[in-house]
Amino acid sequence: MAQILVLGAGVTGLTTAMLLARDGHDVTVLERDPTSAPTRSEAAWTSWARDGVAQFRQLHVMLPRWRAVMAAELPEVLDALRAAGGRAANALHARPVAQTGGWQRGDERFDVLTARRPVLEAAVAATAQASAGVAVRRGVRVMGLLTVDSGVVPRVMGVRTGAGEITADLVVDAGGRRSVVDRWMAEAGGQPPREERADSGFAYYSRHYRAADGRLPDGRDAWLTHQDSVCAIMLPADNGTWAVGLTVASRDRELRALRHVAVWEAAVRGYPAARHWIDAEPITDVAVMGGIDDRRREFVLDGVPVVTGLVAVGDAWACTNPSLGRGLSLGAMHAVVLRDVLAAVGVADPASLVLRFAAETDARVGPYLEATLSFDRHRLAEMEAAAVGSVYRPDDPGWAMTCALWAGARQDPVLARTLATIGSVLATPAEAVADPVLVERLMPHMGRTHLAPGADRAELVATVRASARRAA
Ligand SMILES: Cc1cc2nc3c(=O)[nH]c(=O)nc-3n(C[C@H](O)[C@H](O)[C@H](O)COP(=O)(O)OP(=O)(O)OC[C@H]3O[C@@H](n4cnc5c(N)ncnc54)[C@H](O)[C@@H]3O)c2cc1C
Repeated sequence: MAQILVLGAGVTGLTTAMLLARDGHDVTVLERDPTSAPTRSEAAWTSWARDGVAQFRQLHVMLPRWRAVMAAELPEVLDALRAAGGRAANALHARPVAQTGGWQRGDERFDVLTARRPVLEAAVAATAQASAGVAVRRGVRVMGLLTVDSGVVPRVMGVRTGAGEITADLVVDAGGRRSVVDRWMAEAGGQPPREERADSGFAYYSRHYRAADGRLPDGRDAWLTHQDSVCAIMLPADNGTWAVGLTVASRDRELRALRHVAVWEAAVRGYPAARHWIDAEPITDVAVMGGIDDRRREFVLDGVPVVTGLVAVGDAWACTNPSLGRGLSLGAMHAVVLRDVLAAVGVADPASLVLRFAAETDARVGPYLEATLSFDRHRLAEMEAAAVGSVYRPDDPGWAMTCALWAGARQDPVLARTLATIGSVLATPAEAVADPVLVERLMPHMGRTHLAPGADRAELVATVRASARRAA
């Protein structure tokens, strides 16, 4: 069995560590942030300092795929999350009965157990802490890689940290969006991974709320709805809380005033699916996050690994604009891929491990990533077109089908389930609409708007300007 270092005690790093330790590996997790997870959920939310995760207090939901992976692989994480006040909900039945046709057998596949991000992370950390074979060292910042020249490509033998050098048979980068493993590889004299990186073009404006009776507002549409210039997101969370967010094109200067509470509230009131979600006690101001990159790293170029002894999981491998809420699900799936590959290949042949992991990553996680990027590119183009008064009509049948599915999901319970299957990361769009009968069902909705009812661009801008003037 191998000595494994996991860089980063985020949700994916800890999940990876637990899965590998369960297979008998000796796993040490190194985390730059010094503070341990508080045991009380409210303390995790209010006072856990996690500078290493920029989105720590942004809105999050753990989608059904995340719950399914945890139920199959690490059910004790779900137990810990329930004990911490995690909320059980259903991603399909966020919609009203008029859209879903009521509960049907099999709808439990859309179940979620969800929480505010710090509460989730504290539950995962507590479970990891209690796991045999996992040691979590907080306050240890990784600063570089220890490598040897293996003749063809560098072989990573461990890491340099503020607390000295640590060797291992395998290093797993789980350092998140801001992982700089490419720089470390260059500093070690190796070739960095091939990186595709671009500003995703989205910005987030979110707030958390709490109801005295803990009850979630009634669902009038999906948790994510699209308008011409914004996405409105309404997400259940733990202990009587939930989050409401608006996602906008970051280049849309008109909407930057959404950072002001009064402007944000006035804007949310324009959307019937969202407006009643803010009739509760706000527990935050508007949390703003921009500068969100889409980034993907390839560690195998032309069939040859650029490095051995090192792999990357979760956001350290690939991250996207998060409005589809997939990062944690993809991270959990990716951790399982690594566990499976390591069980099949071991660490004795480090090149085979990197090659096989890259191939399995592309096959099992890659299609979801590509579908996410494709959706985002269309949505951003659509929002940016609205901002300049035009309508986005690309020559792409895939986007036309996607819009038909969003439109049809409001009227046809079968299509609502198809969309929920895709949204829950239970199938890719290609898999979910492979059945010709489904394609037939989509036909009546082709060309119909997929946008949810509510303020259009002109009304939104008028509201934002008026409330910004009042707030000034
Ligand atoms: C605004 C926003 C909203 C989102 N909403 C959702 C959502 O609703 N649902 C969802 O599934 N996903 C969502 N995501 C994505 C989700 O947050 C990420 O996919 C997830 O955090 C990735 O987990 P990770 O463990 O890979 O990385 P991270 O959570 O980023 O963890 C990385 C860890 O590595 C540590 N680290 C970094 N560098 C070093 C170093 N040199 N040495 C030691 N430690 C280091 C960091 O401190 C951190 O603890 C959202 C993201 C954003 C930006």
